[in-house]
Amino acid sequence: MKITLPASNRTVPIGKLLCIGRNYAEHADEMGSDVPDEPMVFLKPASAVIRTGEAVRLPSQSQDVHHEVELVAVIGQGGRNISRADAPDHVAAYAVGLDMTARDIQSKAKENRHPWSVAKGFDTFAPLGPLTDADAVGDSQDLTLQLRVNGDTRQKASTQHMIFPVAELVHYCSQIFTLAPGDLLYTGTPSGVGPVEAGDELVATGTGCEPLRVSVTR
Ligand code: MN
Repeated sequence: MKITLPASNRTVPIGKLLCIGRNYAEHADEMGSDVPDEPMVFLKPASAVIRTGEAVRLPSQSQDVHHEVELVAVIGQGGRNISRADAPDHVAAYAVGLDMTARDIQSKAKENRHPWSVAKGFDTFAPLGPLTDADAVGDSQDLTLQLRVNGDTRQKASTQHMIFPVAELVHYCSQIFTLAPGDLLYTGTPSGVGPVEAGDELVATGTGCEPLRVSVTR
């Protein structure tokens, strides 16, 4: 799948999905987890991405799929060992995204000290909203993220509460992975995560970003 970067109008394939766990203290708390002292990174496959208007498909292997609304930073300029100061130059766009999670599979993986790839990586588990040029979004650390399910607000928080801000995450990740245009950084979810059911309609918003709308199907 390809995305078009807003300012340059360049179309690139979606690359790596770098996802951050426990990046809001209240969410770490609701999961019974400690706040990490460095970013907690996991990967999702690009095959998990769907766009606005499409549907999250509940896999038969899980009985408990949760929503996690997140700000997504879209990499427009690649690099490695990117400094915190240079990080904004590498982010072309922002979008609202959902890090769909099979919570029952993840809980079992945690118990067994297994990776989260299955819990996080099913097809349709990485909805990505429309891309907005980073310059038009303004301060990425002062946005309100919100998720409504069937009209009810389930998650609402400011990105001010991120433990590791976007620039720190770009810096950190780029010391491990060479970043490339089309890579997506899912920056972690605030509190209020919970289950979705077939028939649900999800609307995720972020200040300055266009909304992400997805339905849930079996
Ligand atoms: Mn997440």
